Amino acid sequence: MNDFLHNIYIWYTKNQRHLPWRETTDPFKIWLSEIILQQTRVEQGTSYYLNFIERFPSIKDLANANEDEVLKLWQGLGYYSRARNLHAAAINIHEKHHGIFPETYPEILALKGIGPYTAAAIASIAFNLPYPALDGNIYRVLARYFGIFDSPASGKGKKIFLKLAEEIIPNENPGFHNQALMEFGALQCVPKLPDCSVCPVSATCFAFQKKQVENLPAKTAKLKQRTRYFYYYFIESGENTWLEKRTGNDIWKNLYQFPMVETEKELSEEEILILNPSFMDGFQYNIKYVSGKQKHILSHQIIFARLIQIEVDRDFNTAEGLIPVLKEDVSKFAVPRLIELLIEKTQ
Ligand code: SF4
Repeated sequence: MNDFLHNIYIWYTKNQRHLPWRETTDPFKIWLSEIILQQTRVEQGTSYYLNFIERFPSIKDLANANEDEVLKLWQGLGYYSRARNLHAAAINIHEKHHGIFPETYPEILALKGIGPYTAAAIASIAFNLPYPALDGNIYRVLARYFGIFDSPASGKGKKIFLKLAEEIIPNENPGFHNQALMEFGALQCVPKLPDCSVCPVSATCFAFQKKQVENLPAKTAKLKQRTRYFYYYFIESGENTWLEKRTGNDIWKNLYQFPMVETEKELSEEEILILNPSFMDGFQYNIKYVSGKQKHILSHQIIFARLIQIEVDRDFNTAEGLIPVLKEDVSKFAVPRLIELLIEKTQ
């Protein structure tokens, strides 16, 4: 066991990437980096991290910000609940903890948007507390090295991995330990075709020795994807257009979009032309252009979207909830990436 960790630590010292959040033990910055990296690759997440730190150097700055601005800065990263929760938690820390990041694991875990993995990462890296941070990378390393065939997604598997991870984490430098294992999984013991010939622990690795690398960790059943059909209306009247805010309990909550209609089934060209959305009720309009289909894949959903560009009279009175904006100002609003792609198709 000690040889295993010793070799991983040496490997990490030699091979770790020098990333901006590794230069600090500021819990706010560690927290921000962990939330950004939850569903985002390091290459993409780094510029977002740097932009956030520049705009919000402290918890107080983030807490005092407007949610729209936080979402705008997050635009393009996806999983927007991360940004909403980050903002809500910053407000909570500012109001209930006098702006000081809580220093115990239970208090950190109680913050909005923080689960056991993120709480353990912050507790170990920022406060030197020995909590194992079990992310996908560490699950994979442990499953392969120790030969654990239980799925990390199952209740039983989770307990087995947690017990093992708690046994091996040292009291000294637990943050270094967690980061070393995570980086080892991210760069060396990668999901597909790891190069075991250069691995420093291959001599004692269960998966390598028993030719089980491809079978570990145990695969989890893929979630079924739901298909949805969105028809967005780019309403034009001179320099103006209209946006709406998504408020329901659905994807992209609190982001802006063009007014839209969602249908159960895909519509034909003819059906699109006679689709009369409720927000246009009673108003004359000309259809200028209908875009082709834009496919947009989320983790559990596939969206097929089309943009319908229409012209209305200057006396167009909008339905409740629609916000008139200058066309050139649309880019100032936090919109889903899908809307950005559709804007590129406007004529
Ligand atoms: S030998 Fe291969 S499977 Fe085992 S820990 Fe190293 S890289 Fe991973």
